[in-house]
Amino acid sequence: MLGDMTQTKILISGASVAGPALAYWLHRYGYRVTVVEKAPDLRGGGYAVDFRGDVHMTMLRRMGVLADIERLRTRMGATWYVNSAGKRLVKMPDDLFAGDVEILRGDLAQVLYQATRDDTEYIFGDSISSAEEDADGVTVHFERGDPRRFDLVIGADGVHSKVRSVAFGPEDRYVKHLGLHCAIFTAPNHLGLSYSGLAYSTPGKVVSVYSARDNTETKALFYFASPAADYHRHDVARQKKILAETFRGNGWETDPLLVTMWDSPDFYFDSVSQVHMDTWTRGRFALLGDAAWCPSSLSGMGTGLAMVGAYVLAGELATAEGDHRTAFAAYERELRAYVRGCQKQGEGVSRLMVPESPVLAWFLRLNFKLIPYLPWKGLMAKSVRKTASAYTLKPYTTPTRRP
Ligand SMILES: Cc1cc2nc3c(=O)[nH]c(=O)nc-3n(C[C@H](O)[C@H](O)[C@H](O)COP(=O)(O)OP(=O)(O)OC[C@H]3O[C@@H](n4cnc5c(N)ncnc54)[C@H](O)[C@@H]3O)c2cc1C
Repeated sequence: MLGDMTQTKILISGASVAGPALAYWLHRYGYRVTVVEKAPDLRGGGYAVDFRGDVHMTMLRRMGVLADIERLRTRMGATWYVNSAGKRLVKMPDDLFAGDVEILRGDLAQVLYQATRDDTEYIFGDSISSAEEDADGVTVHFERGDPRRFDLVIGADGVHSKVRSVAFGPEDRYVKHLGLHCAIFTAPNHLGLSYSGLAYSTPGKVVSVYSARDNTETKALFYFASPAADYHRHDVARQKKILAETFRGNGWETDPLLVTMWDSPDFYFDSVSQVHMDTWTRGRFALLGDAAWCPSSLSGMGTGLAMVGAYVLAGELATAEGDHRTAFAAYERELRAYVRGCQKQGEGVSRLMVPESPVLAWFLRLNFKLIPYLPWKGLMAKSVRKTASAYTLKPYTTPTRRP
């Protein structure tokens, strides 16, 4: 037992979505929370993420952040598939990409940060370097700050989680490459898009561009089939070169978009991966969000799932009155099936983009131009919504704020 919750100190690694969401709930249940974030400041901007279905919307309402999120929503409308000449071929359902409410990831992080900053200790520009657990707690060492003691340590630090490597072992045991890479960066709105997106696909490659920040800019998004590539995760110059070489001469607006890539302020590049773990908790450590179960960016589920996970983890800790063993076991039980459903969604989409079977590959090659016309597009939107809704939020004890 950890005893009095107001005396329980919890360290969260990562201040994006899962970390601040967990800080929010833990504070409401009376815990003392510190969040450490590797970046020097809250990372802004980024790509659009969405929430869909009753589970997500109820959770946002319970947190009291829905109004702020709606104020900052992207207001994205249709995405059109185009041919190589830019002719609009077919409109995809609005909610397939934008859900019920869509917001830039950095804006969401800002909303969650504002909701927690007064009651949470935030440390930017630092990272856990190592941690030792004993019977009473965890001694955490930082890259810059002095060592400190905590009762629990939670990793909400993404696919390449430091907490996971410290407490569970190396990344290659858990991170499964789905055979695709993804890049995204901010570009000028030279196509004059108005709350809309365009997508151009060829077998194993998709380029899409959608307007953002009231059409003052766009996000250029690239997916391409590729085995695990040979580059360092922080070597942006090499990553840009890989993207340029892969997509040069791809057709449609690809080359002009690639020209803008070199000066882009926020280039992001990573493999499209999932995280699979038999357990998300060990001793006084727990993982949350992409660090624990990343369903991949193609699932469209990662953000809602990270926030539902934060709600459940904090709720179970409160229900167990701080007994982390009981709470962690309940957290795993509660979320396993929901997480698995969301991961399946991500696997399904990646298999369509990089088919494993030669027969499916042949079929898709022949029919690629037809895919947007097929009834599947409506079914896809329904299926994503069904996956997002396949969970029942527990009420947990009515949270009371500490004075
Ligand atoms: C291109 C793209 C498009 C996406 N589109 C969607 C979408 O449409 N819908 C959707 O729901 N989801 C989408 N996602 C997924 C979504 O972004 C993630 O699932 C979600 O952000 C997970 O949140 P998280 O807080 O768990 O992890 P992250 O957002 O990855 O945050 C991890 C945080 O930890 C920090 N960190 C890392 N290492 C350390 C360390 N050592 N110490 C301290 N801090 C550290 C990072 O700087 C970061 O702030 C998309 C992702 C990508 C890449």
